[in-house]
Amino acid sequence: MVAPGRRLICATCPSTHTQPSRPIQALIFWLTTRTGHGSSALLRGVASVSVTRQGYGRVVTPPPLAPPLGESRSAPVRSRRSATLPSWSTARRLGRVNEPDAKPVHRKRVLLANPRGYCAGVDRAVQTVEEALKLYGAPVYVRKQIVHNKHVVSTLEAKGAIFVEENEEVPHGSTVVFSAHGVAPEVHRQAKARSLKAIDATCPLVTKVHQEARRYAAQDYDILLIGHEGHEEVVGTSGEAPAHIQLVDGPDDADKITVRDPEKVVWLSQTTLSVDETMETVARLKRRLPMLQSPPTDDICYATQNRQQVIKQIGADCDVVLVVGSRNSSNSVRLVEVAIDAGARAGYLIDFAHEIDDAWLADATTVGLTSGASVPDELVHQVVDHLAERGFTDVEQVTTVEETITFSLPSELRRDMKAAAAGTDVPVTAS
Ligand code: SF4
Repeated sequence: MVAPGRRLICATCPSTHTQPSRPIQALIFWLTTRTGHGSSALLRGVASVSVTRQGYGRVVTPPPLAPPLGESRSAPVRSRRSATLPSWSTARRLGRVNEPDAKPVHRKRVLLANPRGYCAGVDRAVQTVEEALKLYGAPVYVRKQIVHNKHVVSTLEAKGAIFVEENEEVPHGSTVVFSAHGVAPEVHRQAKARSLKAIDATCPLVTKVHQEARRYAAQDYDILLIGHEGHEEVVGTSGEAPAHIQLVDGPDDADKITVRDPEKVVWLSQTTLSVDETMETVARLKRRLPMLQSPPTDDICYATQNRQQVIKQIGADCDVVLVVGSRNSSNSVRLVEVAIDAGARAGYLIDFAHEIDDAWLADATTVGLTSGASVPDELVHQVVDHLAERGFTDVEQVTTVEETITFSLPSELRRDMKAAAAGTDVPVTAS
């Protein structure tokens, strides 16, 4: 069988390589999805997506072109909506069928945000710990949560990672990984003093902010760092130039700032803030400091911006928005705020599907679903399954941008991996 627009070879009819007429396609599709005979569950799912896009199911109207807020390495696309079956188990259990002649049925639906979940920096940090465990063996110590997600941390713990708060908890000569949020130079010095083998999994986009802080400090600027007090990233960036950096934690803090020279002051920011709130803070700062300079490129990272952008698009259509993410994940918390600001009636942050209170869904027809940048997609799939069991069987993915960015592993780890591959001894302490 060949589904419209797709070259899907049916297991029971592999010789059919030309497109049958549309009515025949519809009949074949209906038969195969309705009965389950003649194609695998996987093919049925793919065919379902394809057919709906071809106009056999609901009419899907793309919303207006999304302004490309992400970095150039993310390919902006026309915002589009597509029926999707993110979990094959859901598809099988529900027996979802797009019948060609079915009258439109107003089902409870889920608007699934895309992009969502893992960003390039988190992916790299998690891989760093996994590769370090393979290369050096357990235990590998990790200073702070490698990324702010309970599930990721417990999964790595099960593989042999030990999470600590400070370097003093790491035995002399052991391997320690620094988290994606970045560390102050002092932390590197402490590690060296304890002869630790340090692997720095700081996200390169956080490193970029550190470099900006160092550069402006070297030019004797006052630096206004917009961010949340106590957040690890803010602590790490501030540590680059403590004498030059003042923290601005939200718009109201703007009025408390004092600077030495109003003509020599720049603002930088944490990478995971609300874009809108940061702009409000900057506007307030500029009222007092008209000569305030901006960072050379956005500090709020592409992943944070993209996840906020898509939730802005769907927020107003949603009765409830569920954000999968941990409470200490700044970008996840921001997504709830952005959803509410965009018009969602309610927004909730959850680590796991079982935390969803049925009362939240009682009067809801449309549930928006997204996840923070440190959340593996399996947790979102579990939420999709959970919602499907409560009648939200119509899942529509809304895509505003395709992300293609990736980061290579930390250079110190790559060097050791290369040495191991070449059969050379891998140093086990700081070199
Ligand atoms: Fe890097 Fe942004 Fe991901 Fe943070 S959220 S790890 S800054 S890509």
